[in-house]
Amino acid sequence: MISVEHLTKRYGAHTAVDGVTFACEPGTVTGFLGPNGAGKSTTMRMICGLTPPSGGSATVHGVPYRRLPNPGREIGVLLDASAQHPGRTGREVLGLAAQTMGVDRRRVGELLDLVGLNATAAKRRVRAYSLGMRQRLGIALAMLGDPRVLILDEPANGLDPEGIFWMRGVLRDFADRGGTVLLSSHLLREVEAVADRLVVIGGGRVVASGTKDELLAGS
Ligand code: ADP
Ligand code: ADP
Repeated sequence: MISVEHLTKRYGAHTAVDGVTFACEPGTVTGFLGPNGAGKSTTMRMICGLTPPSGGSATVHGVPYRRLPNPGREIGVLLDASAQHPGRTGREVLGLAAQTMGVDRRRVGELLDLVGLNATAAKRRVRAYSLGMRQRLGIALAMLGDPRVLILDEPANGLDPEGIFWMRGVLRDFADRGGTVLLSSHLLREVEAVADRLVVIGGGRVVASGTKDELLAGS
């Protein structure tokens, strides 16, 4: 469960996020939709405790991210797939994270399979990965600690159509087992197939929210 209330972020005179309120329930995928610069990343960074809000609050299971006893195990986060360690192989990135998080290393192989990175890909350095492969690795990293909540910023960016189809299945399955997913995109087609609910943001404000059926009726 993610709860965002009147969340606001100002950079000097510029208000990047302006009183945003929404909730994401267990068992659902919430699509967070808006054009570039709308405030999606800033909102997600505030939920994950990486950017301090200027006002309002964001909680996960009723607690601010930074006060969760084990945030890495509770919430899987993919904020910028291009930011992963370029000099390490995919397997190393996951192996090191598993070690840090106290996750059984066998989980690394399972996740490489789940996200479709084969043995050859897993042995290559991340700097040689396409953006789509980095997104797959980022999703594996986000799921490594078996979290109950996933926060994914533009994970479909760089994925090919087959990858988007694959991701839809993974996220659907995660939500159907009681997980909570917040998934951002600037493209409706990337979220509409998987999202149950949509939160549409523009200029830092929520301009529409509701079930996908409510919002897309008549469109
Ligand atoms: P989105 O993820 O929807 O593309 P962002 O949250 O990245 O949007 O950005 C929202 C607005 O806030 C944009 O106008 C962006 O330029 C601005 N912004 C984001 N981060 C900063 C920052 N660190 N300093 C100043 N402005 C920022
Ligand atoms: P995204 O594509 O995820 O929305 P951006 O490309 O907008 O991200 O921003 C990348 C990074 O630059 C982020 O850390 C963001 O906070 C920062 N940033 C974005 N806009 C500005 C800005 N106008 N001034 C300073 N930093 C910014």
